[in-house]
Amino acid sequence: MVDTRVPEIKTVEAPEGVEGAGFFATSLEKVVGMARANSLWPLPFATSCCGIEFMATMGSHYDISRFGSERPSFSPRQADLLMVMGTIAKKMAPIVKQVYEQMAEPRWVLAMGACACSGGIFDSYSVLQGIDRIIPVDVYVPGCPPRPEQVIDGLMRVQDLARSESFRRRNAPEYQALLASYNIK
Ligand code: SF4
Repeated sequence: MVDTRVPEIKTVEAPEGVEGAGFFATSLEKVVGMARANSLWPLPFATSCCGIEFMATMGSHYDISRFGSERPSFSPRQADLLMVMGTIAKKMAPIVKQVYEQMAEPRWVLAMGACACSGGIFDSYSVLQGIDRIIPVDVYVPGCPPRPEQVIDGLMRVQDLARSESFRRRNAPEYQALLASYNIK
């Protein structure tokens, strides 16, 4: 028999605010944070096996579109979440950095899997021992490989950051100092 029930449609919760009969008021910062958090466009920088796990996360079973992130971008200029997944050879490191530099602010970085986080099992002369040697990382997802549930959890942690980030953070001296420490303008 065909199931004709209409699935329950969940909507994002409104940010904190003041509401009454026929009105709701909140701050612009909270509304923008809510919009950003629920429309993160990932750039999947996949070099090896962790990329396969990301593909599973994109698929219908785990369905990353539930979080507004079903639109992967392969142009850094149209992405705000760089997801690095896989072993990054030292020769590849300048490319990762260039991709990061081409992304507009605000931008976030998620290191997925042991290789991206720390070089993983490849403690060798040719492998970068973690992408935070070349770019700032916001969220680390451990595992070899991490399961899609962990990737989704990492994405939700990035959502938390995007939701609560103030407009001024990217202009703050601390943030500028962080970029300067990576020699990024
Ligand atoms: S962390 Fe493990 S699964 Fe992921 S890219 Fe490295 S070796 Fe492959």
